[in-house]
Amino acid sequence: MSLGTNNYALARSRMVREQLAPRGITDQRVLDAMGSVSRNLFVEDALQGQAHGDFPLPIGEGQTISQPYIVALMTQALQLQGHETVLEIGTGCGYQSAILARLCQRVYTVERIKSLHIKARRIFDCLKLLNIVCKIDDGTLGWPDHGPYDAIIVTAAGPHVPNALLEQLADPGRLVIPVGDRLSQDLLAVSKVDGKITQKCIEKVRFVSLIGSQGWTE
Ligand code: SAH
Repeated sequence: MSLGTNNYALARSRMVREQLAPRGITDQRVLDAMGSVSRNLFVEDALQGQAHGDFPLPIGEGQTISQPYIVALMTQALQLQGHETVLEIGTGCGYQSAILARLCQRVYTVERIKSLHIKARRIFDCLKLLNIVCKIDDGTLGWPDHGPYDAIIVTAAGPHVPNALLEQLADPGRLVIPVGDRLSQDLLAVSKVDGKITQKCIEKVRFVSLIGSQGWTE
């Protein structure tokens, strides 16, 4: 079901008011980005009417777009000011990349599934999101060419924090990643300051698997 442009704008502001602000999303830049990026454009036509619901949705290939609250929480944990270079692992439908693109200088995003990469790139072009650079690859190895990154976000869950990502994280730098077993994980906010790595769990989550040489096997 399609709602029409005005109704999508209303659905977004309701999503911000009812799902994000009351749950501790306080970074106004994050709230503004979530209120302005057209989430419905990132899901297939038949799901557009549900795009702002308080749940994840399928995006094909057995993958999902995260619930709005989780996108906002992960983005807020990166504490972006606007000047940063950000690496995202798991482009998926490209929604999280589009949110990041409004909040930092440049987003490098890696996806392992070709069909998702192609669809996401098409939307970035349509929306003229010129500061997103994407490629198909195993993101558990990061993207060494453009690092170090001020912030890194991993939108699939691995058994541990991939070493390559810690190496490509700037100092100071922030990384957010779900880590645990295949069914449930801790969403970790990792920080690097003066060469020292610290981490804390900010939420219990359930993500699709991070598959690759420093992740799970298929
Ligand atoms: N940020 C996405 C979330 C997509 S789900 C969005 O807004 O839609 C997570 C994605 O991570 C999936 O598309 C999956 O294919 C991808 N993924 C899993 N392992 C990966 C890896 N090693 N490298 C790159 N992408 C990976």
